Amino acid sequence: MAKRTVEDLDLNGKKVLIRVDFNVPIKDGKITNDNRIVAALPTINYVIEHGGKAILFSHLGRVKTEEDKEGKSLQPVAARLSELLDKPVSFVPETRGAELEKAISEMKDGDVLVVENTRFEDIDGKKESKNDPELGKYWASLGDVFVNDAFGTAHRAHASNVGIASNLPSAAGYLMEKEIKFIGGAVDEPKRPFVAILGGAKVSDKIGVIENLIDKADKILIGGGMTYTFYKAQGKNIGKSICELDKVDLAKELLEKAAGKIILPVDTVCAADFDNDAPTEIHEGNIPDDLEGLDIGPKTIELFTKELQGAKTVVWNGPMGVFELPTFAKGTIGVCEAIANLKDATTIIGGGDSAAAAIQLGFADKFTHISTGGGASLEYLEGKKLPGVESISDK
Ligand code: ADP
Ligand code: MG
Repeated sequence: MAKRTVEDLDLNGKKVLIRVDFNVPIKDGKITNDNRIVAALPTINYVIEHGGKAILFSHLGRVKTEEDKEGKSLQPVAARLSELLDKPVSFVPETRGAELEKAISEMKDGDVLVVENTRFEDIDGKKESKNDPELGKYWASLGDVFVNDAFGTAHRAHASNVGIASNLPSAAGYLMEKEIKFIGGAVDEPKRPFVAILGGAKVSDKIGVIENLIDKADKILIGGGMTYTFYKAQGKNIGKSICELDKVDLAKELLEKAAGKIILPVDTVCAADFDNDAPTEIHEGNIPDDLEGLDIGPKTIELFTKELQGAKTVVWNGPMGVFELPTFAKGTIGVCEAIANLKDATTIIGGGDSAAAAIQLGFADKFTHISTGGGASLEYLEGKKLPGVESISDK
């Protein structure tokens, strides 16, 4: 069922609680990358332009003890937000209490307020992270409506997302709406042909995704470190490549179940060491005993490019090789290029490292959608219901 969005809400004069993802890197009190704050602006702007009072909640890092609070205040985030919005933003250094309530009661329509790091509530019994019902109820009591724009935490039921949503009319913000539309859409009603490209380090990380997509995708192209567990299942020699021996039987089952649908690499860039300057060799099929497979080879790039032709939906999760080392980034670049050249295809990246790879390799604007939530997008691709999404009111 479709979820309500911020545009479905009557915001005028309302106290609008917004769960954003302001979990930005901060070093010595300075924000080193403000992408996430910038990404939240469309929803915040929409709310204040429509007469709402924007009351923002976010977590920042992990907080388990009093000492952990050091450097985890949202105060610098509020200051940066004020610069980006070009208007005053008030910050309240507490997550509950008289000061917060007073500050909210004094807000005028169009004002913006940032509440202190929601994880400060984790020190005494993990109230935020365990979705303490009293805390969710209390936060909800501070507002009239709730907008959830934090996809990155949607796979967790916390007080600041699910807790508040359980007590107020709610809606998805623009970022959340985009994630639901693209990742949810690809999984539930993909335009065909639908090709999934799965890589990364381990089969065990991706089993859920493979099992969910095996019935839904028309083809699954496998690359990255998990290739070798599948090679092992086929009886190939994999040399020193990473392999999960306890997953070989599962790989065999998947290959039998999806005969013709799963497409494995036909050649491998190998080296003796995990080193950018190590001499490389390309091997088709078996890998010599003293070598390790670190990227897909040129024939595989060609094969995957051909398999992608005509695709209308592409979901990519997991790099094709050890892209962090330029010597072993060619496979990932090749797949990025093949996807970038597709016409009329909806192309989606889910997965933290894959998103980082595409951005680092210069393909950020070549995809229809790059998910902002690593863990959340993985669980979405596994077909799991995300509590943060589920808790948003239906249209
Ligand atoms: P994502 O975050 O996109 O879901 P993963 O976390 O599953 O991706 O995998 C990313 C990691 O997989 C990268 O750090 C990359 O170096 C590693 N990787 C890819 N191919 C190989 C390989 N052949 N051997 C070892 N590690 C690999
Ligand atoms: Mg990862």
